[in-house]
Amino acid sequence: MRNLIPFKSSKELIPESLLKTLKAKGRDYGLVDVLPIAAEDIQVAQWVTLKCRYGCKRYNSSWCCPPATPGPEEVKEILKEYHSALILVGRHRSPDFYSRGINRRLQQIQCWKGSVSLERYLFLEGYYKAFALVGEVCVLCKECSYPAECKFPQERRPTVESFSIDVIGTLQGLGITTSVARDLNEAFSYFSIILLH
Ligand code: SF4
Repeated sequence: MRNLIPFKSSKELIPESLLKTLKAKGRDYGLVDVLPIAAEDIQVAQWVTLKCRYGCKRYNSSWCCPPATPGPEEVKEILKEYHSALILVGRHRSPDFYSRGINRRLQQIQCWKGSVSLERYLFLEGYYKAFALVGEVCVLCKECSYPAECKFPQERRPTVESFSIDVIGTLQGLGITTSVARDLNEAFSYFSIILLH
């Protein structure tokens, strides 16, 4: 019989052995690192919402983007319920970034599935509050059915940006440097977050 796994308390640090397992599992989805952080280090900013509302064609067209997702004030309240989180770091090269060809879509799906799958793994390890915010847009369907019913509600999660999270500011606050890829052939990093406990 399988041993029962106890639910984890927010005072416990994530064990090194589990982190190692997550990193190994993440590699199957193109993730290059998994970094534990304090939830209070996640920076929420109103300007992120501005970028969603003005200039992004996903606004009001996906279940994973605003206005279907919580606004900044609600997000701040949600984050108060967490003590720790994980940043999932992925790295892609995507020459068809703007034309959104099949390779680009596959990369996005890989990122989505990787983030949700690590969240589920953590839940089964006793982290019952684990919740993934994905660093890409949801393209599980070629065309999102929004505002009609989502076709894969179990896979549906908000994007990191839709949660008004200032990813670059958060990384800078943690002393992690990153930069914008100016050339389509240059590799770029993307970041998902799992709110842990
Ligand atoms: S699973 Fe499909 S319908 Fe649901 S949010 Fe993603 S793209 Fe939209």
